[in-house]
Amino acid sequence: MCATIGVPQALLYYKYYPQWEAFLKGLGAEIVVSSATTKRTINAGTSLAENELCLPVKVFFGHLVELRNQVDALFVPRVVSVENGAYTCPKFLGLPDLARSIDSSLPSVLDPTFNRRLGRKKFYEALLDFGKHFTNKKYRILRAWMMGLSAQRVFQRKLESGLTPVEAIANAEVQTYKGNLKIGIAGHPYNIYDSYINLNLIKRLREWGVDVATTEMIPQRTLEHEASYLPKRLFWSYEKEVVGSVFHWLRNKSVDGIIYVLSFACGPDSLIQVLLESEAKRRGSLPLMSLVIDEHSGEAGMITRVEAFVDMLRWRKV
Ligand code: SF4
Repeated sequence: MCATIGVPQALLYYKYYPQWEAFLKGLGAEIVVSSATTKRTINAGTSLAENELCLPVKVFFGHLVELRNQVDALFVPRVVSVENGAYTCPKFLGLPDLARSIDSSLPSVLDPTFNRRLGRKKFYEALLDFGKHFTNKKYRILRAWMMGLSAQRVFQRKLESGLTPVEAIANAEVQTYKGNLKIGIAGHPYNIYDSYINLNLIKRLREWGVDVATTEMIPQRTLEHEASYLPKRLFWSYEKEVVGSVFHWLRNKSVDGIIYVLSFACGPDSLIQVLLESEAKRRGSLPLMSLVIDEHSGEAGMITRVEAFVDMLRWRKV
């Protein structure tokens, strides 16, 4: 039976950590979360990864390495599908296999499969299979899962009240920022909340007197509704959320401009980048800037671009 489980502070951590934490603790596990990303994390991850992998997956590898000697097993779920009729990025489908292949000295990988497309019965079978690593009692596994779902609902409410996932996980209070400008930041949570890889984007904007809204702060049903205006349904769930948030801001103009943060070498992002830029141009309602990040992103260049964007938005307001 597993005792200490390592959870990398990367990728879907920013989306589901409260659920995973309550679930694993309900199963009786102790959890070790890797620390926030640093240069060392990125160096460790890039040294193990294929060059063409996206930055967030390389960062994820760095977090696995950090946990190497601290835990009995690593928690790397295979998140295939989180809703009917749609999938996640192919990298999430193969993440446990990638994790097993990068370094033979890593602890064993526990990979529960979350695949809504297989239907309720198979979903719960997979859950019970995973739970057997901790207990043979079915009711205990199901109770732990329910605890996870309830923790996730609380988390979701915190995000919708204006907290970032990092603040919500740390049980922070909602702050009121008195900025004279508001910017919507769209993108995958691991790009917009990992402050090392995006060079502290949210903190910097707030220091410059800019209020920030993010994709996660918008209710799920609103994201779904806005994305339904696409002529063709997107079959990547997380990209649909990003599109939904940008469409939401373009339509209701509750922000003064939008920054879309994406990773170099991300297939899904490169597709929706074109879509979002052309939609912003077509509607002509708000300026949108795409910010591409990779492990070589230079601080000076990126900050200058964001500063120029903020200045431009301020001029538009006067
Ligand atoms: S969506 Fe893009 S950035 Fe995210 S894991 Fe997939 S390829 Fe990487």
